[in-house]
Amino acid sequence: MSFKEKGLLVVLSGPSGVGKGTVCKALRTRGTRLKYSISATTRKPREGEVNGVHYFFKTREQFQQMIEQGKLLEWAEYVGNCYGTPVDYVRESIEAGDDVILEIEVQGALQVKRKFPEALFIFLAPPDLEELKHRIVGRGTESADLIESRMMVAKSEMELMQNYNYVVENDQVEKACDRIEAIVLAEHCRVDRL
Ligand code: 5GP
Repeated sequence: MSFKEKGLLVVLSGPSGVGKGTVCKALRTRGTRLKYSISATTRKPREGEVNGVHYFFKTREQFQQMIEQGKLLEWAEYVGNCYGTPVDYVRESIEAGDDVILEIEVQGALQVKRKFPEALFIFLAPPDLEELKHRIVGRGTESADLIESRMMVAKSEMELMQNYNYVVENDQVEKACDRIEAIVLAEHCRVDRL
């Protein structure tokens, strides 16, 4: 029996380095029934990243064109690069009854909230900010300057938590996944969403 025809838009957001990517990957590995939106970005690919798999890598001009043509549900500039969510994939998946998860930074999440208030907003929080720094440094892909600017952004991002429906602490990846799956399941069962 199915009460709902439309899928759910799940927005997983939180400070950079909190582990959004890792948690999303773990959800995929578990086979959690979510579709994963692939973002467009002007950032250069990191080693091992593949166009159309990890991101759609774009030039500034191409990205600007996507904005002008209304192809992005949201977009944000983050530490010198642009990131955005292609709208068609999200719209089509939700209309088809599939749940879609967006793994995006907080400015973009706030835009989605304005356009799509019925989405489910989950804030992934670090156990504390020192831990966050360890994770960004440990990733080994950022210069010292970039680490500092990512930390500054992260501190102000923590204050935006009250705009979300749920907060999930990422103390352990598997526990965070359990909580996200439970939240999504609960959301599907909500009487006021039927
Ligand atoms: P990274 O450069 O480490 O892949 O991503 C940097 C930040 O951009 C992360 O916080 C990531 O969640 C965010 N991000 C990735 N894709 C999007 C997107 O489509 N929109 C927004 N607003 N942020 C994104």
